[in-house]
Amino acid sequence: MVNYKSIKLSPGLYFVSTPIGSARDITLRALDILANADVLVAEDTRTLKKLLEIHDIQLKNRKVISYHDHNGNKIRPKLIARLEQGKSIAYSSEAGTPLIADPGFSLLTEVLSLGINVTGAPGPCALIAALTVAGLPTDRFYFEGFLPNSKSQRELKFRELKSYSGTLIFYESAKRLSDTLLKATEVFGADRQGVVCREITKKFEEIRRGSLKELFEFYHDKIVKGEIVFLLAGAGNSDIDQSEIDRNLKRALKSMSVKDSAEAVALAMNLPRRDLYQRALKIKIDGD
Ligand code: SAM
Repeated sequence: MVNYKSIKLSPGLYFVSTPIGSARDITLRALDILANADVLVAEDTRTLKKLLEIHDIQLKNRKVISYHDHNGNKIRPKLIARLEQGKSIAYSSEAGTPLIADPGFSLLTEVLSLGINVTGAPGPCALIAALTVAGLPTDRFYFEGFLPNSKSQRELKFRELKSYSGTLIFYESAKRLSDTLLKATEVFGADRQGVVCREITKKFEEIRRGSLKELFEFYHDKIVKGEIVFLLAGAGNSDIDQSEIDRNLKRALKSMSVKDSAEAVALAMNLPRRDLYQRALKIKIDGD
């Protein structure tokens, strides 16, 4: 049984989000678009072809055109010519949502400037997937994408963001994780809470929560592999004294459940209950 419909797509450019790990994380509408677009374009043609194969979508006589940072200027006019002929084009980046730390922005602006129809097939996005499970506040957040390569630029960026009170989100590489955690510990302080979301939706998915000191201690002597989203609690949460929170939680845990302890300390210290629940849980598990 195929999961897509045969439909006639309106002319225009379709930005199609694709899985960030598990191949089944794709919407039925995304499959419809990939099955029916006149032209298929991908940042990584092999990845898209594999995805089509998994979902039993035939290429028929369509080629998958490669479009990425290095050939964009050359390929864009060709894609625009097809759009001007009234064709539908589906574009996917290597994984997740196109344009989010991925190519596609110049294509979008040029197509918009010509008054051509643009639409999206929303779906997986690593930063949202990470934020959803991290356990840090989700009401306000700042997404930086990848930090600069140079150590001094990275430190500068951290200093700029130090007093931001919403959750901070970064894309990070496995080989740089340790360095980043060390620098973050220096700038934001050892007690600032962080979360490392690794390999989300994949076989070795790992979500590790803790203070920056704890995260650094865990990762610094390990060979880390895979893809990573690194999140940091906003400034408000870290300005308070973590050791005082821990003392109060430990005292409360002697006579109360994890949930009640978190609630009582949150109330007494005017702190978010959700954050304290995670902390209380960790203290309880570590203490057992
Ligand atoms: N467009 C993608 C999106 O919507 O998230 C992001 C593309 S960016 C080139 C790739 C980075 O996203 C990775 O280096 C990593 O930081 C993050 N990422 C992608 N997939 C991930 C996953 N399954 N688990 C953790 N991080 C992931």
